[in-house]
Amino acid sequence: MDQKQLDYDFAIIGAGASGLMAAAAASKHIQGSRILLLEKNPSVGKKLYATGNGRCNFLNRHAGAADYHSREGDGSAARWIASALNQMPPSALEKIFYAMGLPAIALEEGRLYPRSLQAESVVEALMLTIQTAGVQIRTNAAASGCQQIPQGFVVEDIHGKKNTVRCVLLATGGKAGLQYGSQGDGYRLAEALGHGIVKPIPALTQLLFESPDPTLFGVRAKVDVYLWRLRAGTAELAGRDGGEVQMTREGISGICTFNVSRFYEIQKDVEYRAQLDFFPEHTQEGLLAILTERQHLLGARPAGTFLNGMLPVKLACGLLREAGAECDGHIRDISRDRLQRIAALCKSYERRVIGTKSWKDAQVTAGGVRLEEVDPVRLMSKRIPGLYFAGEILDVDGPCGGYNLTWAFASGWIAGTAAGERKCCD
Ligand SMILES: Cc1cc2nc3c(=O)[nH]c(=O)nc-3n(C[C@H](O)[C@H](O)[C@H](O)COP(=O)(O)OP(=O)(O)OC[C@H]3O[C@@H](n4cnc5c(N)ncnc54)[C@H](O)[C@@H]3O)c2cc1C
Repeated sequence: MDQKQLDYDFAIIGAGASGLMAAAAASKHIQGSRILLLEKNPSVGKKLYATGNGRCNFLNRHAGAADYHSREGDGSAARWIASALNQMPPSALEKIFYAMGLPAIALEEGRLYPRSLQAESVVEALMLTIQTAGVQIRTNAAASGCQQIPQGFVVEDIHGKKNTVRCVLLATGGKAGLQYGSQGDGYRLAEALGHGIVKPIPALTQLLFESPDPTLFGVRAKVDVYLWRLRAGTAELAGRDGGEVQMTREGISGICTFNVSRFYEIQKDVEYRAQLDFFPEHTQEGLLAILTERQHLLGARPAGTFLNGMLPVKLACGLLREAGAECDGHIRDISRDRLQRIAALCKSYERRVIGTKSWKDAQVTAGGVRLEEVDPVRLMSKRIPGLYFAGEILDVDGPCGGYNLTWAFASGWIAGTAAGERKCCD
């Protein structure tokens, strides 16, 4: 078969953030009618609608390579991520979206949202772009196989329909939020083509405690959260972040929890502990001095009210109870030992972590297609020319705040452009 007889020049598997962006980028170089976009859901961009609580925090102006992680985590992964991302900074993506008819509004910490504050505007801007270009979109069409042939690839969908194509992009996402369609299919397709997968784990999700305090359910507080990894008698800091934590029935939630959750992994002989510092602005000694002064000032009040005003009431009571200081007496009756214990607990409230929430609740996947097997400049496989990757399927993940969509859109644009240019150069 001659390459000109192939059904399409470029097949994109997955019409999520990265796949839609790749289609838009490729259509600048190849006729839209030569691009096939396959999506397993009945409609495109299902996850995008759910992002940012329906508002879609689609970029972060401050996103830089140093904000991202790879599960392999060594220096070469960091260099790989920098080589890829530096080609497509958030400012360039913002301009691309603007040209698609999507102006952005910056809210806190560089987070960009569509000016309409509606996630559907992001999907619409991408869809109008690729539909206008004539990209062939097939929904309800999960790709079930992708086989290499001398001229390119044969992509087969679950209905048995086969298409011959010159280049393929795997943009199937990872496994996080699997109710939106990303269910690990991409890993199977990549493995069948000879690629290695770094074990995917759920990230940006809640941490589950061994013995959560049910009375704290619903409490929100500003904290620093530390995740400690305990192995062979030593503790090492796995992750740390600050912000608002929410106490759940099973453990903790909130953005700072999500950001440290990527560092939790079930491993033999390894235990994790979460430490919450409810007063990151004070040292333990400084806090003890404040509590001592407070005891003198408020001595005649009931002991149970000692921390009221410093912390949410439920939390104040919970910490006093845990410190054994919730007595019938007065604040002045709290012993020095107890005072020290309260200060220590406020600085270091610890619980054993027994897991994270499941794939359904996770916002992102840590792990994925091994970076060293992919060229970071074009996002093309080093093993199989013409095979590209973009988005969460790769072993790259970022924190909350628009970083993961920045990666999805940046990598989609890079891969789509590279695949498009490859065709044009022939
Ligand atoms: C609830 C939630 C909220 C989030 N909010 C934000 C946010 O505000 N900001 C942010 O930056 N990030 C956010 N994220 C993360 C972000 O949405 C993802 O990182 C991003 O969508 C990944 O893009 P992707 O294209 O790689 O994968 P996805 O967006 O997951 O798209 C993959 C697509 O491929 C399709 N697919 C899978 N397998 C096949 C197959 N075999 N054949 C055909 N199609 C297939 C899927 O159905 C899906 O449509 C959020 C995630 C969740 C779950």
